[in-house]
Amino acid sequence: MIPASFDYVRPESLEEACRVLGEAADSGDDVKVLAGGQSLLPLLRLRLAYPSTLVDLGRLPGLRGVEDRGDHVFVGALTTHDEVLRSAVIRERAPLLALATATVADPAVRHRGTLGGSLAHADPAGDLPAVALALGCVLVARSGDGEREIPAADFFVDYLETALGPGEVLTGVKVPVLGAGWGFHYEKFHRSAQAWAIVGVAAAVRRSDGVVEEARIGLTNMGPAPVRARAVEEALRGVEVTSPGPGLGPGPGSGPGSGGGPGGAADPVAEACARADEDTSPPADLHARPDYRRHLARVLTRRAIRSAIG
Ligand code: FAD
Repeated sequence: MIPASFDYVRPESLEEACRVLGEAADSGDDVKVLAGGQSLLPLLRLRLAYPSTLVDLGRLPGLRGVEDRGDHVFVGALTTHDEVLRSAVIRERAPLLALATATVADPAVRHRGTLGGSLAHADPAGDLPAVALALGCVLVARSGDGEREIPAADFFVDYLETALGPGEVLTGVKVPVLGAGWGFHYEKFHRSAQAWAIVGVAAAVRRSDGVVEEARIGLTNMGPAPVRARAVEEALRGVEVTSPGPGLGPGPGSGPGSGGGPGGAADPVAEACARADEDTSPPADLHARPDYRRHLARVLTRRAIRSAIG
C-alpha cells in the first residue's frame, strides 16, 4: 500500500501547471494531475499507476467556485463535491447535479473529491459523468496552446479515458440551465449507502401540457463509459403523462421485475423504459452480472423518469 516514488510539483499558477504538463508530455514522461486525490491516491497505493511526477493543482487560484452565467452555471474544476452540495445556485439552477452529488461516497470523500476530478477520472461507476452527459455539459480544458471546450458527448472516450490531452488541465464545467417545465432525478442502486453505483440513472424530462417533449437520460456503469439511453428518450417523446394511471402512477408496475402499469393497462412510460439497456455493454464484476445490470437499468430508468415527471 505504499506508492512507488514520484516527483512532486505544486504550481502557483495555471500557466505554470500547463507548462510543466506540456514539457512532460513533450518528453514522454508519465505525469499525472492531482486534485482531491480520492481516486488517484488509491491507484498509486495499489501500484495500479506509477507516474514519474504528480502536479498538484491544490494551490491554483480561480479553479474553484460556482458562478451563475445565465444560460449555464460554471463550476470550477477544483470545486469539491461538498461545495457543490452547499451551493444554492446549483440547487436552484442545476438540481440534477446536486441530486447525484448527494449520492457520492461519504462526507470525508466529498470534502476532498472534486467535480473536475470525477469527470477527468471517467470511472464508469462514477455518478457525475452520466449527469454531465444527460445535461449536455461542456468541459473547459486549458493547455499551453490555449483553451478549448469539449462537449460531454465527446469527452468520455472509454474506460478511465477522456478526450483530455496529456498537457491539458480541466479548468471547469459549463452546466446548462434547463428551466421551466423540466424535472430531474438521479436513481442509484448500490450495495449500501455511500457505496459506488452498481447502476445509476440520471434523468431530465421536459413536459408541456401533460406531454413529454424531451427526455435526457444518462446511464452509470452500463458500459466502459457513461451512455445516453437514446431508445428511451425517443420512445418517451410525445407520451401523455397527465393521468394518475398508466404512464405516471407508481402502482404495481413499479416493482423490480414488473413491466406493466396498474391493472395490466398499457403503460407507455414503462414500455419506453423497457428499452433502457439497448446499445449498452454492462460489465461483469463481483457485484453484478451484465444481465442483472440490464434489468436494473430498465427498472431504475422507470423510477427515475417517474420521479422526474412527478
Ligand atoms: P483525483 O483523485 O485527484 O484525480 C482523479 C483523476 O483525474 C486523475 O487521473 C487525475 O490526474 C485527474 N484529474 C483530476 N483533476 C483534474 C483536472 N482538473 N484536470 C485534468 N485531470 C484531472 N465517486 C462517485 O462518483 N460515486 C461514489 O459513490 C464514489 N464513492 C467513493 C468512495 C470512496 C471510498 C472513494 C475514495 C472515492 C469515491 N468516489 C466516488 C470517487 C470520488 O468522487 C472522487 O472525488 C473522484 O473520483 C475524483 O476526484 P478527485 O478530485 O479526488 O480526483
